[in-house]
Amino acid sequence: MAAESKGPPARRQTRTVRAGGVAIGGMHPVVVQSMTNTDTADEVATAIQAAQLARAGSELVRITVNTQEAARAVPAIRERLQAMNLDVPLVGDFHFNGHKLLADNPACAEALDKLRINPGNVGRGARRDDHFAQLIELACRHDKPVRIGVNWGSLDQALLVRIMDENAQRLQPKDATEIMREAMVASALESAAKAEELGLPGDAIVLSCKVSGVQDLIAIYRELAVRCDYPLHLGLTEAGMGSKGIVASTAALAVLLQEGIGDTIRVSLTPEPNGDRMQEVIVAQEILQTMGLRAFAPLVAACPGCGRTSSTVFQELAQEIQFHVRARMPEWRLQYEGVENMTLAVMGCVVNGPGESKHANIGISLPGTGETPVAPVYVDGEKSVTLKGGDIAREFKAIVDDYVARKYPRRPTS
Ligand code: SF4
Repeated sequence: MAAESKGPPARRQTRTVRAGGVAIGGMHPVVVQSMTNTDTADEVATAIQAAQLARAGSELVRITVNTQEAARAVPAIRERLQAMNLDVPLVGDFHFNGHKLLADNPACAEALDKLRINPGNVGRGARRDDHFAQLIELACRHDKPVRIGVNWGSLDQALLVRIMDENAQRLQPKDATEIMREAMVASALESAAKAEELGLPGDAIVLSCKVSGVQDLIAIYRELAVRCDYPLHLGLTEAGMGSKGIVASTAALAVLLQEGIGDTIRVSLTPEPNGDRMQEVIVAQEILQTMGLRAFAPLVAACPGCGRTSSTVFQELAQEIQFHVRARMPEWRLQYEGVENMTLAVMGCVVNGPGESKHANIGISLPGTGETPVAPVYVDGEKSVTLKGGDIAREFKAIVDDYVARKYPRRPTS
């Protein structure tokens, strides 16, 4: 007998960290975040892209802060976002010189809602501890939470050597993969413990350990999850372009999220040249929504098509409906409660069309090859109208708009 579906998994218990108006961890919903790829010193370009990411649904936006010019631009980026009525929390990403940039630019620290520091990139030898202590002291002074973000590509080499030496003393030494994973986890946990010793509250720490291998990521986060109660930021680093990046990120994140692990996620996609940076936000949302963890925008179910449908009409309609709901969502979200849970179906023929349509809030079944050229529409499981002719897309969108206005309660206007 098939196992009964029990809905979304229970979340791992963690502390709650607040970054601006967003709560990470505890029992709060998994937060979607993204990162700009503009030169932060270009305050106009960075503010525009941060606004685009926020409007696409990114609940935290990370910006790199790598130079004095970038650090000086951060308050202006904040102001530009405020002028656009956007209070999305900004996370500053610091490597190598973060201690100096934050010390030299207190207005930058104030304008940020969270800091991300990489313990492998704060300095070498004695300077490493000194720079790390300065960063933590600055975070405490400005009352900012910190993500301690370990990355496989910049793992603390001194710590790695120490763990390799310890491994060499073992009767049964672990293999290189296990040692790498152990070093990643140790770097995150030891850095967090050090930050707390230096005065950073435990509820101001988020941890991440990013690698590019799916199995490595899963193993590392499972270990982190049992060894601490800090919220965890999930992301596969260097996931890649196109379908490879989406599939690898989804495979890794879905396994962990299904185990209740992960409090904030980023999907690190390499965009095509001049490609759409917003795609990483949409993919992150779709991972969470298809897993039943959150709802962001109506989902459009569509069949893949086959030899029973020789025209591209239904593919075009599915695409047009998907664009339509995404375009309408910013306005609908403000006006109607629960509209993000709506489901739509656009199906190619009579084989699965009516059945799938009846399971959606609104579904349309287009005529397949040899079928009567009509398209029955189902609303809440009941046949509503039958569309025909060349204006089906416009008429179907009007049915969707009308359904939203009738079905979902209006939010009170402030
Ligand atoms: S619903 Fe019809 S057109 Fe779509 S995949 Fe199934 S048989 Fe093919």
